[in-house]
This record gives sequence, C-alpha cells and structure tokens, in this order.
Amino acid sequence: MNPTPTRAAGLDRLASFVPNSGRYARLRNFDLGPDDRSNVSTLSPYLRTRLITEEEVALAVLERFAPSTVDKFLQEVAWRTYWKGWLEMRPQVWDAYLDGLSKCDRNGSYRDAVASRTGIECFDFWARELVETGYLHNHARMWFASIWIFTLRLPWQLGADFFLRHLLDGDPASNTLSWRWVAGLHTTGKHYLARASNIAKSTGGRFNPVGQLDERAGPLPPDADFERRALAFPDPPPTGRLGQLLIPDDLTPLDAEATAGWFPENAEVLGAPSEMTIRFQRGALHDVLDRTGGERLHGDLSEAARAWAERERLDGILLTRPTVGPWRDVFKDFDPGIPVHHHIGDWDRQLWPHATAGFFKLKKRLPKFFANLGGGAPPLRDLFGEPVWAGSSLLGNRCRRSWDEGVPPPSL
Ligand SMILES: Cc1cc2nc3c(=O)[nH]c(=O)nc-3n(C[C@H](O)[C@H](O)[C@H](O)COP(=O)(O)OP(=O)(O)OC[C@H]3O[C@@H](n4cnc5c(N)ncnc54)[C@H](O)[C@@H]3O)c2cc1C
Repeated sequence: MNPTPTRAAGLDRLASFVPNSGRYARLRNFDLGPDDRSNVSTLSPYLRTRLITEEEVALAVLERFAPSTVDKFLQEVAWRTYWKGWLEMRPQVWDAYLDGLSKCDRNGSYRDAVASRTGIECFDFWARELVETGYLHNHARMWFASIWIFTLRLPWQLGADFFLRHLLDGDPASNTLSWRWVAGLHTTGKHYLARASNIAKSTGGRFNPVGQLDERAGPLPPDADFERRALAFPDPPPTGRLGQLLIPDDLTPLDAEATAGWFPENAEVLGAPSEMTIRFQRGALHDVLDRTGGERLHGDLSEAARAWAERERLDGILLTRPTVGPWRDVFKDFDPGIPVHHHIGDWDRQLWPHATAGFFKLKKRLPKFFANLGGGAPPLRDLFGEPVWAGSSLLGNRCRRSWDEGVPPPSL
C-alpha cells in the first residue's frame, strides 16, 4: 500500500471499494496481509486529511447498496467522528497523554518493540509493516496495542506515539482513544486482550503466537476523571473578503476569495511524524492547492499568513477549526493581524454533539442521519450515468457553507 496523496487517487480507491462494501460486514475482521486489502477500504489516509469526505464515502456506498447491507461499514466511518467529537469535548485527555508521553523511558524493551526485535513473530511483523507501509489493519492495531500493553508491559503512551508518527491516517482522536480503549481506560474496567486463537483465525493461520501472550492480564488502573466540556460551534463569519487557510487536518475547500496552505518546515511541532507521513500530508495539501490555485506559505505561520492577507487584501481568514491534537497546538498562538473565522462542517456539527458518552448513543441516531444525507434525494448522475457524489465538482471537494443556505441542517 503506497497511496498517492491526491483527491483523484482517493476517489479511485473509493470507486474500487464500493462494489466490495456489501461484503464488508462479513469479511472486515480478517487481516489477509499487506498484499490483500480487498475486504477493507484503506480509505483512512484520505478521510484523515479529508481529501475525500465521510459524506462522499457514505453516499457512494448508499448509491450502490441498501442501508441495511452497508450499515456496518457506515458505523465504522462514524466511529471516526465519534472519537473526534468525544475528544473535542475532553481536550484534557490529549494534554494528559502528552504529559505522560514526556515522562516515558524510551530505552530497553521499547527499542526492541519498535525495531521488530521482541521475538513475537506477529508483533514484529506488524511493527515492520507499520514502519514500511504506514498502514495496519484494524485488527492488527488492536492486537498490537494489546500485546504492547499487556504482554510487553510498555506504557500505552509510547505505543500511541509510535502509531501516530507512522500511520498515514494517524489521528489524535482515533489513535489516542483507541489505545485508551484497548488499555481499559476509555470504558472503565473493559480492556481488549489479544488471544493467540483469534490471531490465528483472523490471519488465516499466518500467525499463531500460542503461549507467547499474556491472555489473563487485567485492565490498567483508571488514570483520571476527565470532565466533559460543552462544544462551542463558531458563528458564521461576517461578510467581506475572506481567504481560506488550509492545513492537512482538514483539506475541504470552502467558498473563499483566495486560498493558501501551510505546512511546517520542521515537522517536530506535529509530533515528529515519519518521512512517509510527512510526504503524504504535504502532498495532500499541494493537491488541494493545485486544484484551487492556492498559494504555498512558508516560514513562520503567523508572519506568512499576515503577508498573504496583505497581498490578497483580505478582511479575514477562514480556517476549518483544527481538531484537538498537534494541529490545534500549532495554532495556539496564531496571530495573522486580521480576524480568524473558524469553520466546522455540517457532518461534524450534527454528529459530535452525540459523542458525549459511549458510541451507542451516536449509533442509534445513524439510520436517520444517513437517510437524510444529501438531502435524502437520489444522487445526481453525470453524462455516463455514474453518480456524482455530493461535494464533487471541477475543483474537487468544494463544500457548501451551511450558513449561506439560511437553513439549519436537519436535526437527528
Ligand atoms: C490502537 C488503534 C489505533 C488506531 N489509530 C487510528 C488512527 O490513528 N487513525 C484512524 O483513522 N484510525 C485509527 N484506528 C481505527 C481503525 O483501525 C482504522 O481507521 C482503520 O483500520 C483504517 O483502515 P481502513 O480505511 O481500511 O478502514 P475500513 O475498515 O475500511 O473503515 C472505513 C473508515 O472508517 C473509519 N474507521 C474504521 N474503523 C474505525 C475505528 N475502529 N475507529 C475509528 N475510525 C474507524 C476510518 O476512517 C476508515 O477509513 C485505530 C484503531 C486502533 C485499535
């Protein structure tokens, strides 16, 4: 797997997955190995950067199959949104993770684990696969995290950091909270134990680590009680000449008079991602800038944005609000000298408020949510009879600005 960081490549990947999406529920749990990912979508790097959106993916599979056939797939897409919304309401979990990470010892068995030298064949294979491809199947992620925490007894923060730096889809919400879930810290007392028999079955016998795993460990002790904060959604921006500043946290182009993109010269500020991850993120940003005729900004973020705003005679900057994680941290002291208006799209606005507790609360709203998607109307077709997925246009995933419509999004 070596995904090309363009929207066109993401749409190709989506088109080739759609016919398989009807079998997803039955086959998704098998990790068939890096040479066969036909039972899952591998769309995650595109969704993570929003080169393609969740809405487009959902509409594409719903165009082909009845909701009941693809409901498992749609639920998985919504898991990503659930984790995002949950962390937006508890940003302290991210800060606590960073604090814990800074105190971890990176010697001894940690070095063996990340260098594929533990002697547990499946674990060493996945560590190598992660570093070489930037992807792991969901089950491999669960087994890997479980072995890391309960067999190797390494701090979960170090494992989450290893994932976040190497996964092309590395996402502070899905990643941090999934590691916490495996450890038993998300749902108190409930943890995930990797079992040799399950690994053997779900890898088609490629691995069978019988006798090598701690299959009896208890969950990690609870670490803290993180209080939930209210979600604050930004107001519509005032009228005026607005320029959109794009970053790979969300590359959805909005209606704006000018576009620019920024990526740090020193990616340490993003948590030191791997070269492969940097290449994907930077490439994805350049793809959107090529499609929108946007400018590439260099150097200090505030200074570069201020100079761009002057050149473009902007009244304000439109920024899709960076989500909790390294990108939000990068923007903490952002001061371009003109007002910055945050944008949060309809998908997140509608679903995040239901991520207050467990996933079930959000899940039960999904049938109605998906029934209303795209206004509930059948998707448009192009001259060849192919569906034109919501948001597609010559420019790419150009997004509606819900505040311009004068109509609030349908409630769930
Ligand atoms: C320890 C651990 C760490 C993880 N870290 C990340 C991460 O950093 N970034 C990330 O995007 N996902 C993460 N996941 C979730 C999941 O493993 C990946 O989203 C999925 O494997 C991506 O492959 P795919 O696109 O082929 O998924 P598919 O099975 O085809 O699913 C389609 C899409 O749904 C979403 N999705 C599916 N399963 C999940 C899930 N369990 N949680 C959240 N979203 C999901 C993804 O956007 C995915 O692209 C993690 C899971 C675990 C157990």
